[in-house]
Amino acid sequence: MNWDTFSYWGQHISKWAADYHRTLAERPVRAQTAPGEIAAQLVATPPETGEPMDAIMADFERIVMPGITHWQHPRFFAYFPANAAPPSMLAEMLVTNIAAQCMLWQTSPAATEVEGVMVDWLRQALGLPEGMTGVIQDSASSATLSAVLTMRERATGFTGNREGLNAKGALRIYCSDQVHSSIDRACWVAGIGQDNLVKLPTQGSNFGIVPSALEAAIQNDVAAGHIPAGIVAITGGTGVGASDDLMAVADIAQKYDLYTHLDAAWAGSAMICPEFRRALWQGADRYDSVVFNPHKWMGAQFDCAIQFLRDATPQLDTLKIEPEYLKTTGAEVTNYSEWTIPLGRRFRALKIWFLLRSYGLEGLRERIRNHVAWAGELAEKIDAIEGFEITTGPILSLFSFRCPGDDAQQQRLVDALNDDGRIYLTQGMFDGRKIIRFQVGQFDTTRDDVLMAADVIRDVWEAMK
Ligand SMILES: *Cc1c(COP(=O)(O)O)cnc(C)c1O
Repeated sequence: MNWDTFSYWGQHISKWAADYHRTLAERPVRAQTAPGEIAAQLVATPPETGEPMDAIMADFERIVMPGITHWQHPRFFAYFPANAAPPSMLAEMLVTNIAAQCMLWQTSPAATEVEGVMVDWLRQALGLPEGMTGVIQDSASSATLSAVLTMRERATGFTGNREGLNAKGALRIYCSDQVHSSIDRACWVAGIGQDNLVKLPTQGSNFGIVPSALEAAIQNDVAAGHIPAGIVAITGGTGVGASDDLMAVADIAQKYDLYTHLDAAWAGSAMICPEFRRALWQGADRYDSVVFNPHKWMGAQFDCAIQFLRDATPQLDTLKIEPEYLKTTGAEVTNYSEWTIPLGRRFRALKIWFLLRSYGLEGLRERIRNHVAWAGELAEKIDAIEGFEITTGPILSLFSFRCPGDDAQQQRLVDALNDDGRIYLTQGMFDGRKIIRFQVGQFDTTRDDVLMAADVIRDVWEAMK
């Protein structure tokens, strides 16, 4: 392809994109295709000769687009959002087009230096203390794995990487039973093992870990000769928004000298609003590692996870490796690939810069505040549908409910709603029962979009019962 053709199609695709977003609300939110339907339309063997772009684009529209679930749809209420504000998409276009691999400072100084400043802007935006540094990762899962590896190395006197774990005894990590599955997987991959991830019960309307149970578990483990290594706390758990008492957990961590990681992958974005910090963020400054995903609620296009670190040294002592071919000479510089597991790095900071400059924190706060307020209104409307119950009240903009009937009936309603296509939501489990989750957070959603969901739920329920 020559650059004239590239320029033509580049402009065509950005026009296509604007039209796609303008008309998005008319499409069903979740893809309405059966498994195998898309693959069956693709040619089974690779082409021997090149084809023109218009043929490729036409097939993209015909074959691929029907198989897309529209995450930027204003009535996307499933999972958590993966918001892509338009300026962040434009930044990603630039990054894609420059196509630099930014593993070291010298492989693109701008990527490293913009990253350092953006991590610091976000530190300030979330009310975290001066001196906390951090790094941009692809996902909260990677940040959590980095933190769990650091717990492991710190608890073994930084000998695990070298000696392996065979003779180390049982390293123990503590969390509530509300943590995301990425915590389990981090413990699997780090060689800690599922059985050494101690999941503790929760209490109260925020479903926070019971501090006395946490302390008792640590004491029992010490008595049994195990090695407590760290605690993973959460603000805004995935199921129902469970949030730990961060002060109480940090106190216990301090008493037993445990490394702490705070998973605020979703809720972290809301901490740009000072009023939400009072209930959910007191003590966050005391965590050794804090992760939040600007690619969820904040609007920085996927992927983008920030890991803040109170002191980067233990994580660098865990992950840094410097073979000759990666050495840089000259002045002292930051090489962020030493802070993370993958070597190669995308220039993820640019979209944060574009996003924050375009909207300002006030523009982003206004959206999040609206989402929280509308979720509260909607929960009341759903509660008023005959026989429906709110199973967990809103924590920020996430709540859950049940329709009349057993667990299978909950799933039938979720499936019927998603087949209907006007809204998209997903199920979860809480207290041994299936629940229907509802989160408000799509970047362009309006109060009408949100409140309409109650009418859709009532309609679909009436039609299926
Ligand atoms: C989404 C989520 C994760 C996982 O995030 P990834 O970036 O997809 O790895 C972890 N924890 C919580 C609380 C989440 O909501």
